[in-house]
Amino acid sequence: MIGKHFIGGTWCDSRGSGTIPVRSPDDGAVFAELARGGADDIDAAVAAARTAFEGEWGRTPAVERGRILARTARLIEANAEELAGIEARDCGKPMKQARADITAVARYFEFYGGAADKFHGEQIPYLEGYTVMVKRDPRGVTGHIIPWNYPAQMFGRTIGGSLAAGNACVLKPAEEACLSVLRLTELLQEAGLPAGALNVVTGYGEEAGAALANHPGIDFISFTGSPEVGTLVQQASAAHHRGCTLELGGKSPQIVFEDADFAKALPYITNAIVQNAGQTCSAGSRLLVQRAVLDRFVPLLQERFAALRVGASGDDLECGPLISKTQLERVRSYVERAESDGLKLLAEATIADGASPGGYYCAPRLYGPVPADNVLAREEVFGPILSLIPFEDELDAIRLANGGDFGLVAGVWTENGARQMRVANAMRCGQVFVNGYGAGAGIELPFGGVGRSGHGREKGMEALREFTMAKTIVFNHG
Ligand code: NAD
Repeated sequence: MIGKHFIGGTWCDSRGSGTIPVRSPDDGAVFAELARGGADDIDAAVAAARTAFEGEWGRTPAVERGRILARTARLIEANAEELAGIEARDCGKPMKQARADITAVARYFEFYGGAADKFHGEQIPYLEGYTVMVKRDPRGVTGHIIPWNYPAQMFGRTIGGSLAAGNACVLKPAEEACLSVLRLTELLQEAGLPAGALNVVTGYGEEAGAALANHPGIDFISFTGSPEVGTLVQQASAAHHRGCTLELGGKSPQIVFEDADFAKALPYITNAIVQNAGQTCSAGSRLLVQRAVLDRFVPLLQERFAALRVGASGDDLECGPLISKTQLERVRSYVERAESDGLKLLAEATIADGASPGGYYCAPRLYGPVPADNVLAREEVFGPILSLIPFEDELDAIRLANGGDFGLVAGVWTENGARQMRVANAMRCGQVFVNGYGAGAGIELPFGGVGRSGHGREKGMEALREFTMAKTIVFNHG
């Protein structure tokens, strides 16, 4: 398969030359090629989006925008198994994860299809003889840059919200994995999206991505990816005096108090680091456990870790391979560092017999106790490596949980209602789960971070605030 760009309602080749090989994480073999977009393709995509915004798409009423998105949701459901197969192979995800991702994408389009004509402005009481309305105008042309870990879900999240708000979009998906994004774009086209309302340019980050981030014709940027590239995107946004949302990394804590329901907590805690082989921004990668129950809790977790199996996407085990050789080397460097720092390996999962030697497999590992200032406890590994960090009491847990640079998600495990409320309120992050965990599925729940995890919110109705701007109109009829 050779991919193309989607610009102005047409599938087209790159204006420059070259393609990007797509490797299967399962065995490292090249199985597809992407068009290698550059600045000229981005120029064409931005121009097409502007024409759509000032033309047919900009005149499309909210109710009709919603219908197109709702039709897309139904098309995604009708093609769910095909889409899940694409996502599984492209990302190396176990099929059950890929299926869950496609269910979530359909839900994004369902949600934003329903929301398009229900996001209202307001009327403000003002002086005698005045009427004031605050409209929510679309931003205009929005740029979107997304990562490889959940291409389909990221597409639904950022494109669903922006189209519902009435923007025309230019998307640069990740070069490592974006085949589902191309198929989803076809489904939007089939659902009746006017030409130019969505434009997709595939390519490398430093080429197509940088051209989009720096383009003067963009009114707003929604970026999801690493903190390092997020900084570049924000700098480019500042240079053009425009807004951006940055959905960046995480080092999310899961806090287990002595009175937690262990049986309930253990599957969530394990899944939160193993899901998508730990390549999840909201991975629960710091496990804070009250020292008083370490002896009881840790053996139960070790048992679970040791039982996990890693294999190819089609084997549908608990954990698939990492996305690429680069990512595998990155995670291995953290493992080597943990070992040279003398951290104790408490448990390790098994890579299944038959896993291809060319694949990017990495067994989930549990280390502990990890000092809170160790690299493994502070940096985002983006792999299935869990750091166990003991704490003494509630204040100590809050101090440790809020102690890092990131602030995306937190999990709190306790049966004490007052403590649930105190600790949840004290967390410095965008989402807190009490006796549960899992940021992915809650399409209607605002999501985003603070600090090195970024700023701005996507998902839910909150995203529509980001993808629109308040315009105040003052009528003096006195
Ligand atoms: P990355 O920043 O390297 O790449 C993300 C996207 O940015 C890709 O499309 C890439 O091509 C593009 N890009 C790279 N260099 C660029 C440049 N100079 N200018 C413009 N665009 C450029 O991140 P990654 O390694 O692909 O993804 C992993 C990161 O994403 C992790 O830190 C993870 O936590 C984060 N992430 C965050 C969320 C969230 O919602 N907060 C969700 C998923 C992933």
